[in-house]
Amino acid sequence: MQKNFELLTTDRHSKARCGRLTTAHGVIDTPAFMPIGTQGTVKAVTPRELREMNAQIILGNTYHLFVRPGLDVIKHFGGLHNFMNWNGPILTDSGGYQIFSLANLCKITDDGVEFQNHIDGARAFISPENAMEIQAALGGDIAMALDECVPYPCEYDYAAQSAEMTTRCAKRCKEAHAVILSEVEGSRGTTSAVSQRDSSTSRRSARNDSGARQLLFGIVQGAAFEDLRKQSTQAIVDLDFDGYAIGGVSVGEPEEEMMRAVESAEPFLPRDKPRYAMGLGTPPQLLEMIARGMDMFDCVLPTRLARNGTAFAAAGTLNLKNAEFALDKNPIEENCTCQACREFSRGYIRHLIKAEEILGLRLITLHNLHFYLNLMSRARTEIESGTFDQFRKAFVAEYKTRDAITVE
Ligand SMILES: [Zn+2]
Repeated sequence: MQKNFELLTTDRHSKARCGRLTTAHGVIDTPAFMPIGTQGTVKAVTPRELREMNAQIILGNTYHLFVRPGLDVIKHFGGLHNFMNWNGPILTDSGGYQIFSLANLCKITDDGVEFQNHIDGARAFISPENAMEIQAALGGDIAMALDECVPYPCEYDYAAQSAEMTTRCAKRCKEAHAVILSEVEGSRGTTSAVSQRDSSTSRRSARNDSGARQLLFGIVQGAAFEDLRKQSTQAIVDLDFDGYAIGGVSVGEPEEEMMRAVESAEPFLPRDKPRYAMGLGTPPQLLEMIARGMDMFDCVLPTRLARNGTAFAAAGTLNLKNAEFALDKNPIEENCTCQACREFSRGYIRHLIKAEEILGLRLITLHNLHFYLNLMSRARTEIESGTFDQFRKAFVAEYKTRDAITVE
């Protein structure tokens, strides 16, 4: 079978790696940051702007899109790529995390979860099989297996049972995904015209015109327990996915526990598959995760913090609402090549935020995403030059934001 991931460089002083992941809609250089497009949009940014800042992949939230606008609308437009006019790679999450955190849960059995959505209260049911169907209909390049992300803190017995359920779920996702791919493969030989109303259209999205199939990543759980992390990793790896995610991290645990959870799982992950640390983190945390062998990241911080006036910089975050910036003619960050820094001053952006002008949050969002993407690009260069470890230590030492705990 064709290899989707190529490991290019491994750092000698840490577990950092550079790789290249090939998907139906393009190549992703790792380490990679994935901006989050919760509602089919990376908030306040157009796909053109994402391309200009060299975002190679974005994340779509299955639950949100399933609830609104709903699959019928997205299928009508020929899948999520066409609907939002982003032609690069998309990773869709399974929707499980939002079902557990946002929806009103009605019934959980081994078959699946029945819930009422948080928008209009309509009831829906999600099983491992239809989590795969929904993601095939969205047509993302990478789908995620359904898992249960346990809250923090979590009792050992509950975490153990939950990790086992996640494994059973992952097995069913793998099987259902294989069936979808084989049906798509079968229909490709016999169908020439693409009809948006054809009942197999959603499944055809699982393999786009380039012929590359949708990849499926498994998710490791196990909460803060080293033995559970190991068992979960081995069980999920045995199922042979295209890549592996570490879930249940960045759920409110202290940073040392988060690092330990990743360190407990990493030795059992195959070297020749991409590793995705879910839902993190601050810039120093991303570098620490890269040093621990992780390749892919997604985080709401750059877009969420932008909306309250917080910008990322090498020295830590800046709250542009602060009075100290009122007369500041400097850009958010010196030498930053983003649109906001090339064209506008801190003082002006502060004014926009204080006046609640939309442009203010747009400019900070552009800067913050650029900062995260640029950090990954810099990490790749440093890994390739064999200087990643010095770079990481210097960056972490320089980054002064108090609420971002630094490691080592
Ligand atoms: Zn900037």
